[in-house]
Amino acid sequence: MLNIVLFGPPGAGKGTQSENIVKKYELVHLSTGDLFRKHLGDGTPLGTLAQGYMDEGNLVPDEVVIKMVEDKIAEETGAKGFIFDGFPRTVPQAEALDGMLEKFSYSISKMLALEVSPNELRARLRSRGKTSGRVDDQDDAKIDNRINIYNEETTPVVDYYHKQNKFCSIDGVGSIATIFNAICKELDPFN
Ligand code: AMP
Repeated sequence: MLNIVLFGPPGAGKGTQSENIVKKYELVHLSTGDLFRKHLGDGTPLGTLAQGYMDEGNLVPDEVVIKMVEDKIAEETGAKGFIFDGFPRTVPQAEALDGMLEKFSYSISKMLALEVSPNELRARLRSRGKTSGRVDDQDDAKIDNRINIYNEETTPVVDYYHKQNKFCSIDGVGSIATIFNAICKELDPFN
């Protein structure tokens, strides 16, 4: 079973590359941001709870995210593997993910980190905000808040996977095809 953490700051291209990875390796795409936006659209209590955090670019509390991911993994019986996109974003989430995968006798195969400079990220997010309809992409203060939170709360996750020899850095600047090739080089040995 191939289970990947696709890691990187907001605007690094995780969603775009996830689509390519899902097609080639037939994995279940588990994006916590997409799941929250679906709950929001459906007007569920979880969506209402998450909205305040999301609109400001703050992280939804760990226990809420972890429960949502656990439920989704349990739902996907028979999956060939998972690609985790936008999760884990804190060390407690990474620890919880290992714990929940262990219950199913699964484990993370590799953590791929897309590397993009902060200036490039800001430009990409502003441009995405023109068409995405995402409140959190349309305001410079919110964009900066998300990048700051990534630097402060999310980057320690790198160390977590580094210690497990699962960390792999991928240059996230270039054409979609070039970046995908670099990803495939890392994943093909697991296939
Ligand atoms: P994303 O689509 O990954 O940029 O996520 C959009 C928003 O959803 C984030 O700014 C957070 O408010 C929330 N969110 C998504 N994933 C997580 C996570 N793993 N932990 C906490 N909050 C999250």
